[in-house]
Amino acid sequence: MANILKNAGSHKILAILVGLKGESPLELIELCGRTSYQSRDRITPGSAEKFVEMLRNRGHESVLEHSCMTVEFNNVSRGFTHELVRHRLASFTQESTRYVDESNFYVVIPPDKDESEKIVELELPDGKKIKISFKEWADLNEQMYRGLRKAGWVPQDARQILPIGIKSQIVVTANFREWRHIFKLRTSPSAHWEIRYVMTNLLKDVQKRIPVIFDDIT
Ligand SMILES: Cc1cc2nc3c(=O)[nH]c(=O)nc-3n(C[C@H](O)[C@H](O)[C@H](O)COP(=O)(O)OP(=O)(O)OC[C@H]3O[C@@H](n4cnc5c(N)ncnc54)[C@H](O)[C@@H]3O)c2cc1C
Repeated sequence: MANILKNAGSHKILAILVGLKGESPLELIELCGRTSYQSRDRITPGSAEKFVEMLRNRGHESVLEHSCMTVEFNNVSRGFTHELVRHRLASFTQESTRYVDESNFYVVIPPDKDESEKIVELELPDGKKIKISFKEWADLNEQMYRGLRKAGWVPQDARQILPIGIKSQIVVTANFREWRHIFKLRTSPSAHWEIRYVMTNLLKDVQKRIPVIFDDIT
């Protein structure tokens, strides 16, 4: 039976780039940024926050590219990942539907929808009509996938009937400037509910972990 996921998309931060001498991401950015005016002698405890805030406010975002973050996303749909991979300045590794068997699949559905409500009328080959729910359709889809696999179809062929809502896992690495861009686009009210939900949670998380860099994005 297919499994239903509602508001289950989540993130896990795998890495945030710091300096070899233990500099925080902000200190690393300050160290790099002060190359311009040869002003590293002005580095003091606490100066990094003010320096990075100045860069951010003046729009000197290229300096923010000196640190980056790697994030794993779980229980997100292929629709979500397809939107994410449009961000060309990031690096991605994603679960393969060519090689991974999906005989027990999970589907992400809109949180406000009832997967058990029989709302769609189907006409069967014998002309008989039945009403089915999203969940029943997902179960049929899963049976079809399994049947194709049993008949000898390899995952990369059987995947052609998988829904775009199927669960996936993806790992993304991007520099802070690109993450700022992704957050601005993907947490806005015009973004799709799934990516908006997951990215808003990630944004709140990084605002707590890394001061200044993402604070101006609401
Ligand atoms: C609400 C919403 C609705 C959308 N609807 C659709 C849709 O209907 N159809 C569709 O196809 N897409 C759609 N998209 C995707 C959108 O068109 C972009 O592909 C996606 O948001 C990535 O944005 P980007 O190109 O700015 O970012 P990135 O690829 O992350 O690039 C970051 C920035 O780098 C610069 N850059 C990157 N590559 C180049 C380049 N080759 N040349 C010059 N500058 C470059 C640009 O300044 C760019 O903003 C939608 C996106 C959103 C947020």
